[in-house]
Amino acid sequence: MTHDEREAKNLLSLGFGQGSKVEHIKIESEYLRGQIAEELQADTTHFSEAQIQLLKFHGSYQQEDRDARQSRKAEGNEKAYQFMVRSRIPGGILTAEQYLVEDELASRYGNGTLRITTRQSFQLHGILKGDLHATIHAINESLLSTLSACGDVNRNVMACPAPVDSPHSHTHAHIQQIAHQLAMHLAPRSNAYHEIWIDGEKVQTVEEPETVEPIYGPTYLPRKFKIGVAFPDDNCIDIYTQDVGLLANVQDDVLVGFTVLIGGGMGSTHGKKETFPRLAEPLCDVSLEQVIPVVETIVTVQRDYGDRQNRKHARMKYVVEERGIEWFRSQVEERLGYRLQDPHPVQVSAVHDHLGWHQQSDGCWFLGLHVENGRLKDGTTLRLRSGLRHAIEQFRPGIRLTAQQNILLTDLDEAQRQPLTDLLQSYGISTAPEAAGAYRFAMACPAMPTCGLALAEAERVLPSLMQEIETELGKLGLAGEPLSVRMTGCPNGCARPYMGDIGLVGRTKDVYNIYVGGDWANTRLNILYAPSVHFTKLTATIRPLLLLWRDERHEQESFGDFCYRLGIEELRARVEQEEVAAD
Ligand code: SF4
Repeated sequence: MTHDEREAKNLLSLGFGQGSKVEHIKIESEYLRGQIAEELQADTTHFSEAQIQLLKFHGSYQQEDRDARQSRKAEGNEKAYQFMVRSRIPGGILTAEQYLVEDELASRYGNGTLRITTRQSFQLHGILKGDLHATIHAINESLLSTLSACGDVNRNVMACPAPVDSPHSHTHAHIQQIAHQLAMHLAPRSNAYHEIWIDGEKVQTVEEPETVEPIYGPTYLPRKFKIGVAFPDDNCIDIYTQDVGLLANVQDDVLVGFTVLIGGGMGSTHGKKETFPRLAEPLCDVSLEQVIPVVETIVTVQRDYGDRQNRKHARMKYVVEERGIEWFRSQVEERLGYRLQDPHPVQVSAVHDHLGWHQQSDGCWFLGLHVENGRLKDGTTLRLRSGLRHAIEQFRPGIRLTAQQNILLTDLDEAQRQPLTDLLQSYGISTAPEAAGAYRFAMACPAMPTCGLALAEAERVLPSLMQEIETELGKLGLAGEPLSVRMTGCPNGCARPYMGDIGLVGRTKDVYNIYVGGDWANTRLNILYAPSVHFTKLTATIRPLLLLWRDERHEQESFGDFCYRLGIEELRARVEQEEVAAD
């Protein structure tokens, strides 16, 4: 028995037995092995409860086709089990060859679609248990990984993906490199992943596979952990929603360090007051040399003080909220053995979606394409997945995934621009950012039918809702006005619905809470305006607010800023007055 295993057993015997069920599963898993290999071999359609929890660390969720629930119950059949497989792609950067592997797997083993996640990664849906090993194995052969894409560890590290450096400045490439280093440094070191999915072969997915976890220990983290790297003038990765946000400090076109923000997070649970979305707050400034040790130390504070009894209260944001930023800082300083530098005043001013054609500093071009809800699929007129595959096979661009679930095709030369545009158009794909209309700044989580936590639809209903909202904007003379709308099927908040102009969060079937008042740069939480609104009433509930905005906004004032300026009570009162006057 290793030192860590002994420590884990001791924790159990010393009263750690109060920890949640998942804590016990982690301790007893022998560093994420559990019985996954044995159950993979078994002739079953699904895994046992403990393996389901451990599989998350390996990048997969066991799910069921919820659309098939009623019929299979009526027929007395077992659940229609299937698996989601999520890759870990730091900064959303991958090669054309890696993209084509994911695309091929979507056809061969998945449901024929590929989904760009809100954390710049890919998800495959609808994988059957018998195909799980082949899927994860193939992803690793392409030199991507699924390790720690899910689970109680550091998840995919986000970074602004745009290749927009100038000849004098390499700050974007630099932060993308740091995102990759952080991802590798904080990846689990257990050999279990390699043994199970790569048959013991050593692949460059972690710095050095070891048999113990020097950072996490045997119980890993109390809950998931998220890191994002942003620029003050481009917060495209939503820095305030991260457990650790690194805001670039650039001097004379050179990246010199970061302001570190901690304690952000979106998830909450309806009816549980101890849970809430929270913005990250500044902790300190770090030099480039300090980034990895400081982030690692922050992770260890959460490891040791995060709530391991109640998983709904286990994110680091609750440690920061309840113990305070000064306490947290003293913990980090004590562990590091030196004082941290006070944080710069934080100013985050803008968000870019990187859509359309842009020139790179090397003379090449990149093209940002809008992907509705990140879902790469073929419809009757818009054949997005086929068109992209054809374009990527022919032009072999670099690929970057954005936090708004869009895709950038990079490193294209001037001569390729028109042929690529023509090819995409032949599949119904527009290269003009404005072609996305009101949908340009909208996002939804997958929700039904795959997510087991979904209380309401999101991805499948947002398109029709956005059409209604776009029609209303047109009728009100607001066509083309940017509006960010984020919808999720439950308060877990995977599409970050508590930021942005309008947040829609599922409460129960067809019923949503409406939040308004976030700002365009995503530095402020929106506020509950209308609870429990039926889907069919969402547009009618939002319309009076759009009308007020049109008539009373200040010059250039966004919808969210307008709602925030008036305040929720005033908005409700004004809408009520208008309704009485109209009667
Ligand atoms: Fe599932 Fe909720 Fe996340 Fe949507 S927000 S994907 S419903 S957990």
